[in-house]
Amino acid sequence: MDEKLILLAEDNEEIRTFLQESVLIPAGYRVQAVEDGIAALAFAHSLHPQLVVTDHQMPNLTGLELAERLQRDLPEIPVILMTSEASKDLILEALRAGAVDFLTKPFESEQLLSAVGRALKLKRPRSPSSSINQDTRPGNGQLVRRVNELEALSKIGRTVTSVLDLDRVLTTVVEESVRLTGAEEGSLLLLEPESGELYMRASKNFDDEFARAFRLQVHDSLAGAVLARGEPVLLDESSPQKIKTAYLVHSLIYVPLRVHGRVIGVLGVDNRKAGRALAQEDIKLLTAMADFAAIAIENAQLYNHSNDQRRKLETILTQSESGLIVVDNENRVLLINPTVRSIFHVEGDCEGRSAAEVFDEPRLLSLLREGGDLNRHDELAFEDGRVFSATRTPIRGIGQTVILHDITHMKELDRVKSEFVTTVSHDLRSPLTAILGYVELIDRVGPLTPEQVDFLDRVRLSVEQITDLVTDLLDLGRIESGLDTSKEDTQLAVLAHYAVQGLKSEAEVKGVRLVTRIDSELPKVHGDPIRLRQMIGNLLSNAIKYTPTGGEVRLELSVEDQQLILRISDTGMGIPPKDQPFLFDKFFRASNVPMDTSGTGLGLSIVKSIVEQHAGRIWVESQVGEGTTFTVVMPSLTS
Ligand code: ADP
Repeated sequence: MDEKLILLAEDNEEIRTFLQESVLIPAGYRVQAVEDGIAALAFAHSLHPQLVVTDHQMPNLTGLELAERLQRDLPEIPVILMTSEASKDLILEALRAGAVDFLTKPFESEQLLSAVGRALKLKRPRSPSSSINQDTRPGNGQLVRRVNELEALSKIGRTVTSVLDLDRVLTTVVEESVRLTGAEEGSLLLLEPESGELYMRASKNFDDEFARAFRLQVHDSLAGAVLARGEPVLLDESSPQKIKTAYLVHSLIYVPLRVHGRVIGVLGVDNRKAGRALAQEDIKLLTAMADFAAIAIENAQLYNHSNDQRRKLETILTQSESGLIVVDNENRVLLINPTVRSIFHVEGDCEGRSAAEVFDEPRLLSLLREGGDLNRHDELAFEDGRVFSATRTPIRGIGQTVILHDITHMKELDRVKSEFVTTVSHDLRSPLTAILGYVELIDRVGPLTPEQVDFLDRVRLSVEQITDLVTDLLDLGRIESGLDTSKEDTQLAVLAHYAVQGLKSEAEVKGVRLVTRIDSELPKVHGDPIRLRQMIGNLLSNAIKYTPTGGEVRLELSVEDQQLILRISDTGMGIPPKDQPFLFDKFFRASNVPMDTSGTGLGLSIVKSIVEQHAGRIWVESQVGEGTTFTVVMPSLTS
């Protein structure tokens, strides 16, 4: 019976016994087991086994060293190497040392048996010879080459993904192409679209000066033809060609470099000396290399593009006169621009710090704290006289932004205008008083015809309207100047009550229901009671005025987070969305107000000024035909 003899070298007794008793002998092999490398070498010499299966980590002589010695002395005996680590380097070394297979522990019995089966079928050279090398053992030579190629490709793969330095990636690609194909020189040529020429972007073994000056017309060069056709070319020894005017090459490969299906250049290797062939399979390798180069070029283009965009955005943000603050959902600062730094005198790095730490500005912080899905506006006034309009916008997935515009100049213009209006209004009062006085006197000096009485009534009504207007203008002037306030701790609920009482009969006459819901035990506010009552009165009288008979006007007052919330809503005609942004402007009246409705268009300007004088905010929500709600939020005194 032709039982094959296997020499098993393993220092671990347990594994040795298992492999011998339970795997190899039951499979029909004879086994000589030894526990160190030197013993294995000695037995190999004396027993001439058909196969050596050896562990790598062994005392005296490692498995790798054993394989090397056997390759030199007894090349006809194949060696299988077992190891507990499978690094690429070790695999390469094992293959170079002549091992025919490589098993990584733990492995299954079946894996060992099939490796043994394969190894025993291999035809090994019969005689010991020092000339045994990879060329005389093509199987191993090819494997080594393959592993080398894979190693190079994985190295370039890593470089491409981890390095943004395009020069380094492309140089690595060319160097590895030259190394793996065994060529003399290599180059990566890229097309310059403007000139239609190819230039050398990376090279190996070309003179630096030559590489820098290298230019090739696409239309009359071999590289140009590869670029145009998108197909690789291989020139072998049989057809030496002058591909670059300067010199002759004996063998050459050019492969196209593609980005998004477009050929943008050529990767090539060549030999100027005779006797070095390049093979068809090198094309495959070079094509893979070219793909890596193309990815790297594309990555670099994308990176440059996004870098450009980022720089543009950065320039816009830094140069912008508007202030920009971006915070995350926890109100931690993500970004602020230089304008914001100078407005709030922020120094140092503040990214990641909470907004409350960075900005010492209560109105800004309350704008940020409020959150919600809607934009909010506020004005921030500083002690040095500067005023900024602040707009908060939520950004989904990030947090929120606040954009600040300097409106100091506009505020100043507004103030000058108000001053002028106040002066003029004041001067109008005296002649108006005179007109009214004489109108009263006319019917005392003699009997009037009914027509004359009617005319006089109209004059009186008009004078009253002008007087209302003048009163409103004067009020507004005084409120805006901030001079007429006499603030005290006051109960908004009491003022609301008076305002409702004052308008009760007006509502009754019109047939509008007046409903109030005021929470008990509300905190006080620090404010001017006369102006606050005027504010509530204006909102209520508007609600009654713009609500038809049968409708309802509701006043609600409550407290939330130390803020008093006054809500006056009605079931009236509503305000068209396009008019809503201008509602608090002076003299503005919405487009749906009927012609004969009395009013000056100043009531809401007065309301807004009063609210702002009390550090509060006001906004409107309205649906045409359904109704309107004005909400006023005002800080309360802590009890
Ligand atoms: P007016 O004297 O015209 O009432 P206001 O400044 O008080 O001036 O109000 C400005 C405009 O806002 C009004 O002309 C009207 O178009 C609109 N408005 C105010 N309150 C309401 C409301 N409750 N319902 C509908 N429109 C309103």
